[in-house]
Amino acid sequence: MPILRLAIPTPLRSLFDYLPPAQMSPAEIAALQPGCRLRVNFGRRQLQGYLIEVATSSELPASALKEAGELLDTEALLTPTLLQLCLWAADYYQHPPGEVLELAFPPGLRDGKPHQPPGAASWTLSQRGKGLPEGALGRSPRQAEALQLLQQGGAVAGTVFREMGISTAILRQLEQKGLAERCILPPAAMAPQPGPGLALNPDQAAAVSGILADYGSFASHLLEGVTGSGKTEVYLQLITHCLQQGQQALVLIPEIGLTPQTLERFRSRFGQGIVVLHSGLNATERYAAWEAARTGAAGIVIGTRSAIFTSLQRPGLIIVDEEHDSSFKQQDGFRYSARDLAVKRAQIEDCTVVLGSATPALETLHNALQGRYGHQQLTLRAGSGELPAIAAIDVRKQELQGGMSAALRDAVRGTLEAGHQVLLFLNRRGYAPTLQCHDCGWIAQCRACDARMTVHRRQRRLRCHHCTAGEGLPNQCPQCHGNRLLTNGLGTEQTEDVLRLQFGAWPVHRVDSDSMQSRGAMQALVDEVGTGQPCILLGTQMLTKGHHFPGVNLVAVIDADALLFSADFRGEERMAQLLTQVAGRAGRAGDAGRVLLQTHYPDHPVMLAMLRDSYAAQARRMLEQRQQSGMPPCGRLLLLRTDSADATTGEAFLGALRRKAQDRLPAGCQLIGPLPSPLQRRAGKFRSQLLLAATDVRQAQQAARLLVAEATQLPARNGLNWSIDVDPLDLG
Ligand code: ADP
Ligand code: ZN
Ligand code: ZN
Repeated sequence: MPILRLAIPTPLRSLFDYLPPAQMSPAEIAALQPGCRLRVNFGRRQLQGYLIEVATSSELPASALKEAGELLDTEALLTPTLLQLCLWAADYYQHPPGEVLELAFPPGLRDGKPHQPPGAASWTLSQRGKGLPEGALGRSPRQAEALQLLQQGGAVAGTVFREMGISTAILRQLEQKGLAERCILPPAAMAPQPGPGLALNPDQAAAVSGILADYGSFASHLLEGVTGSGKTEVYLQLITHCLQQGQQALVLIPEIGLTPQTLERFRSRFGQGIVVLHSGLNATERYAAWEAARTGAAGIVIGTRSAIFTSLQRPGLIIVDEEHDSSFKQQDGFRYSARDLAVKRAQIEDCTVVLGSATPALETLHNALQGRYGHQQLTLRAGSGELPAIAAIDVRKQELQGGMSAALRDAVRGTLEAGHQVLLFLNRRGYAPTLQCHDCGWIAQCRACDARMTVHRRQRRLRCHHCTAGEGLPNQCPQCHGNRLLTNGLGTEQTEDVLRLQFGAWPVHRVDSDSMQSRGAMQALVDEVGTGQPCILLGTQMLTKGHHFPGVNLVAVIDADALLFSADFRGEERMAQLLTQVAGRAGRAGDAGRVLLQTHYPDHPVMLAMLRDSYAAQARRMLEQRQQSGMPPCGRLLLLRTDSADATTGEAFLGALRRKAQDRLPAGCQLIGPLPSPLQRRAGKFRSQLLLAATDVRQAQQAARLLVAEATQLPARNGLNWSIDVDPLDLG
C-alpha cells in the first residue's frame, strides 16, 4: 500500500504519513512528484501539505492513517534541487520542514489556491473597451489615462501602470465598467539584454577569470574587495557570462541595501528580464516574480534573504553581496543564514557562488584562507577615488556640543566651505537614551523590558527600542513630581539640533529609521545629495549600506567608543566592519577624503588597530584569536532560548534539558548555562538560554538533534516557548 509522506506547516518537527486519496489510481499515485501540494485534514484544521515521497510503508498501522484530500498540483511547483535545499535546511537548523517548504511558495499558493499559467499579471481592453473612441472617459482623468495606455494596443503589465502612478483601484473601476479585463502576459519578452561592460582593471580581470575558471560546476568564491574597488562591475560581468550560457543568476543583497540606486545599476546594464523580490511587492507582483524565476523567464533574480528559496529553472550563478551583513541571518522563527544556504544551494545546483564584501565575515574568510573557497582580492579602488586616511580625535576633557568636539566642528566647517559634503555617523536614534529626574534620581524604564526608554523629542514620546512600548513625554517626575527632568546621553535628534544651530547655512539631513519612514524618503534624499551641493548627512547604520554619496569628503564617527566594549565575542569584528564600511563612504570622487573617529580611548589596542591596519589585516589577526578561543569559525555554537511569563520556568526547563542530554553529547561538546539572557526581560517575557560549544559542525549537528529531541519530550509549563538557533549570530 503506497503511503504519502508529507511536510505540513505545523510547529512539529516531523513528516506525516497519509493514505492517497481514494479516487486516485495506482498509476496516478506512481506519477506523483515530490513537492506537489495536497489538502489534508490535520487535527481539526484543513491545511496544505507538501509531498516529500511516496513510501511503501509507515511506522503507523494503516488503520491509524487518514486519507489525504485533494491534489492541488499535477506537477511540482518547485524544482527538485530547491526541495532538496529546503529539506537540508530543515534538518540543519532543526526547523519543521513544512514551515521551511512554505517559503518556497508565494503567499497565494501557501493556502490552497490553484496555480495559474506563467506570466505577469496584466490588463487588456475588453470587447466593449475596444469599441470606445479615443479620448473617452474625459470626466475621469486617471481612468482616461489608463484607457489611453490600453488603447495603444496589446496587454499592459500591472507594474507599468503602477510606475505611472495609476493604482489598481483605477483599473478595477475600468473593469467594473466592463472596459478592461485582467490577463496574463506571457513571459517571452523578458530576456535580459546585457549592455557593454567597463574595461576591467587588472585586479578585476583576474577576479572574473579566476571565478570563471571553474564555472559550470560547484565552486564557492570569496570576492574580497575594498570599498569602491568595483565589486559590482565584477558581478555584472559574471552575470553577463551566466546569461550567455542561457542560465539564470540569483543575487542576494542586504535588507537595506536593496535601494533604487542598486537596482538602477542592474537595470541600466541588462534592461528587462530582472525580477526583484522585496517586501514592497503586493501578492500579484510577488506571484509573477516567483513564476518568472521558476519558469526561467527571468534571467536575473534579485532579492533579500528569503529570495534564497526561489526556484530557478536553470541556475548558473549565485551572488551574495555584502555577505558579512547580519540581515542574511533570520533572527526569529526559522533562524537560517541565507549566506550559508547560498553555498549549500550552489553545491546542490552544481553551480558557482560568489560571496562579496569589503569586510568579509570571519566565517567566510576562514573558508577562503583554508582553500575551501576560491579567493579573489581587489585591493585598490576602481576609477579615480583613493582610500581615505583615518585619524582619531581624542575627546577627553574636550567640551562637546551635540557630541562633537571643537576639532570635529572645525573640520565640518572647513569641508563645507570647500564645497564638499560631510557624513556624520551616530548609531543611536532619538534625542537621548535616558530620561532622569534631577531631584530624586528616577529613570524612565520600559515596563515590559529590562531597558531604559529613549527620549524622542520630535514626537514628544518615550519609546522602548526593544519592544513596541511608548508613552507621551512626561512634564514632571512620576515619582516625586519634580519638574527638573534631564536627558542623558546622545541621539541623532540632539546632534541634528546642534548642527542646525551651528551650520544653518547648509542643509542638514538626518537619516535614521524615524526620519526615513515614508516610502520615497530615501530616494528623495539620495537625489538631493546627488546634486553634489555641500550639505551634512547625519545618520545611523542606514547610511552605511548600499548608498553611494560621491560628494562626501569627510566622514566622522561621533562616538566610536560605543562599539568598543561589547560583551559579544563578535564585538571587535562588528566594530571593524562597521567603521570600515562607514569610512568607505568617503573619498569616492577624486580626493582621498578624510575619516575622523572621536574616542575617549585613543590608546586602546582595538582603536589603535582600527587606525593602523586595514580590515584585511585586522580580520586575519582576529581569526588567530578565534583559533585560540575555539569560537566560530574555529568551532561551532548552538543556542537554546526560552521565554516565559516568570523568571524561573525557563531556567528550570533548560536545567532539566542539560541533565538529560549532557551525558550523551558527542565528546568535545560543552554546555554553558542555563543563564538569564543578556536582556533578561523583553516585551514582558523572561528569557534564558543554554549555549553549546562544539569543535566541529558534525558534533554540533549531532548535539542539535539530541537537544531538540530531548526538549520536545520535556513538559513546557507556564506558557514556556523554546527555540534553537544553529550558528547564532546574536548571543542575546
Ligand atoms: P564596490 O561595489 O566594490 O564598492 P563599485 O562597484 O561601487 O565598488 O565601484 C566604485 C566605482 O568605480 C563606481 O563608480 C564604478 O562605476 C567605478 N568602476 C568600477 N570598475 C571600474 C572600471 N573597471 N573602470 C572604471 N571605473 C570603474
Ligand atoms: Zn523625581
Ligand atoms: Zn520595552
